[in-house]
Amino acid sequence: MTLLGTGIPNPDINAFGTSTLIEAGDQRVMIDCGRGTVIRMAQAGFPLGFTDTLILSHYHSDHYAGIFDLLMTGTIQQPFSNRGGPLHVYGPPGVDDIAEGAWLATRPDRDIRVADSEIDPEHMRIVPHVYVEEGVVFNKGGLKIIAIAVDHGEYIKPAYAFRVEYEGRVFVHSHDTRYNENLIQQAQGADVFVHEVAAAKPSTLENYPRVKVAIDHHASPAEVGQVFAQTKPKLAMLTHVVLLPPDPMPISHVTAEIAEEYDGTVLVAEDLMSIEIGRNITVIPHHHGGRGHSIIDRT
Ligand SMILES: [Zn+2]
Ligand SMILES: [Zn+2]
Repeated sequence: MTLLGTGIPNPDINAFGTSTLIEAGDQRVMIDCGRGTVIRMAQAGFPLGFTDTLILSHYHSDHYAGIFDLLMTGTIQQPFSNRGGPLHVYGPPGVDDIAEGAWLATRPDRDIRVADSEIDPEHMRIVPHVYVEEGVVFNKGGLKIIAIAVDHGEYIKPAYAFRVEYEGRVFVHSHDTRYNENLIQQAQGADVFVHEVAAAKPSTLENYPRVKVAIDHHASPAEVGQVFAQTKPKLAMLTHVVLLPPDPMPISHVTAEIAEEYDGTVLVAEDLMSIEIGRNITVIPHHHGGRGHSIIDRT
């Protein structure tokens, strides 16, 4: 899989909105589509049509703000794009609103491209697939993706983590959640467990009430350490690291607090890291060349 985006709502050139691209056998699925997802796909060498399947965890903008770009640009019949069909989006109730709204909002672009004999209008359609509770949301070609209900705050419901299973390999991504017993239970036996985290200095919490509200929707470093200690993944990783300005806590403080609770290795995710789970677990940062995908080979 490729961690296309590992960021939060704050615009940051180094950490775009959350998005993960799963490849297993002949299955290709994207989970979440935050800001800049299409740029990260291009950087990693994936054409935008590499997948026509997107699963959403919850409806904060940093997890789906990139849909329009993926949807619209993905219809263009060029090697960088070429989806060649509609975009299937699985999500909690609300995904039907996104589909309906997108059909209307994309009409001006669609009309001129259709008139120009460039695209099939149906390729610019989102086909919504609503899931209303935790459990299996995708099951094809041996790839099983299971939604896990998590706790992202009183008014942010529903919110889901995902457990991805393929041929005995297990990848779990917390998406956005506080410390959550249900996730701990369902993340057992993970090869790779990617968890979010949030922290702020006491002075920041005191002086910036909005920061406190944001932090309260997420897991603290000590809690993340407890989650890893209770699930014992083969590889633990941090993503969606919420360290808000104006005086952000250094990441070294976060990892030190986690280490009080968990004595395993914890890797801090970066955009475009690819993770391969095979005989070994291999993590390849982008500056080492990533997976070496080539658009030209694929078209
Ligand atoms: Zn988020
Ligand atoms: Zn969120």
